[in-house]
Parts: sequence; C-alpha cells; structure tokens
Amino acid sequence: MIRLLIFLIGIAVMVLIIRRIWQLRTSAQTKLVLLDRDGVINEDRKDFVKKISEFKFIDGSISAIKTLNQAGVKVAIITNQSAVGREIITRENLQDIHDYMQAEMELHGAKVDAIYFCADHPDSATNRRKPGTGMLEEALAYFKASPDQTHMVGDALRDLQPAKKLGIHRHLVLTGKGEKTLNDKSLQDCSPFEVHKNLQDTVAVILKDFKK
Ligand SMILES: [Mg+2]
Repeated sequence: MIRLLIFLIGIAVMVLIIRRIWQLRTSAQTKLVLLDRDGVINEDRKDFVKKISEFKFIDGSISAIKTLNQAGVKVAIITNQSAVGREIITRENLQDIHDYMQAEMELHGAKVDAIYFCADHPDSATNRRKPGTGMLEEALAYFKASPDQTHMVGDALRDLQPAKKLGIHRHLVLTGKGEKTLNDKSLQDCSPFEVHKNLQDTVAVILKDFKK
C-alpha cells in the first residue's frame, strides 16, 4: 500500500515537472513582431493622422500582418501619438482611428494582438515615448517574449534606438520617413539592422529568421 502511494506521488511529481518544463519552453518561444504605426502600416502625415479619413493603409501592409498572423507570430503596434499630448486630437479620436484600423484589417483576415501608444508631449516625455524603451518593455513582458525572438520594424531612428538598447532585432522600412532616416548618420548607432522596401518585404525576411 505504501509502495503504491510512493509510486503514485512519484508519477504526480513527474507530471508536474514535465508540465513546468513545457510551459517554460513554450513561453520562451513566443515570436513577437513590434510595428511602428505611421510610415509602416499607414501613410505618415507631417500634420498627424487626426481622423479616420486621414488614415491610409500603405499597400501590402494588411497582407503582411496577415502573413505574420498565419505563421503564429504575435503582432503589436508601438506608436508615439503626441497629437494627443499636443491637444490636436483626443484619446477618443485616437481610439476611433484604431477601431477603424482593426476593423479594416479584420475584413481582410488580419489583426494586431495589441496596440501600445504613448500620448506624451515631446517636452514632457516619459520613458514610454520612443526612443524610450517603455512601450517595448511592456510588450515583451505581456507576451513573455525574449528580445532575441522579437523584431522591431520602423521608419524612424527612434523606432530602432530602443530596440537596440533592449537587444531586439531591428528593421528599417523605406516607406514613410524611411528614405530620410537612411541618410541620418546616427543610424549607424543602431547597427546591425536591416533595410527593406516596405513591411511586406520585411515580414518575408523575419519569417525566414524565425525558422532558423
Ligand atoms: Mg513612423
């Protein structure tokens, strides 16, 4: 009877250990792609995207996100939205724009898993505002992703800078401010990084990298 009890306890302990190892293994394998919004997903505007009619998807960006979804990669947007802090738009306006963006993506079978935005005015910016690392760290923690299994895609230096600090892979797209960013001497501080024509090309490379 005692032997049977010890045997059963032994089995139970083994099951718990195997389950824990499996949990650690799967959480360590979370694949995450962080996307800047303006200039990567939608056309950048010098005067900010203030309403739904000003939100124009860049060709191919929705299908690129769908490709990530289908590959089981988590997708999060990391965006500075100082238009809120500058009182050009309200938080409700921003929510409406994001609701529209998500609805349009859904129509095409794509979705982003989380949206992180920073409303700070540049003059009173916290570490959440890029090039601060705050929003990227929040995403890593939420998705339990490791930096070496995470890629950041942006069109500006400040998208790549926090990724460099955290050891996240970096990709510059030539849409939006990308061409201008390419000529910025400070860009070399973010190396190594890759340069791609647009989000679609970037996703193809990222998926190959995840398969390695
Ligand atoms: Mg941008």
